[in-house]
Amino acid sequence: MDESDTLAEALICSARGCRAPAGWALRWNNPRLHTPERRKTWLACEVHRPSLGDFLTARGFLREVTPLPGSPTLEE
Ligand SMILES: [Zn+2]
Repeated sequence: MDESDTLAEALICSARGCRAPAGWALRWNNPRLHTPERRKTWLACEVHRPSLGDFLTARGFLREVTPLPGSPTLEE
């Protein structure tokens, strides 16, 4: 046994291949898949926040971008 399960709670950027700590939460919704009140969350570091945001904005999915309060309670 080790403590890797607890370390997995760390907030890491959602960009592919990125292991940087996330500082932002991008809240989005795909109207074709989700009910209007549903929110998915991508985490982003400072470097990837613009590119992830542009990806979601281009598809009309992005709803809000919020700074992470340091809480580990975000849903996937
Ligand atoms: Zn990143």
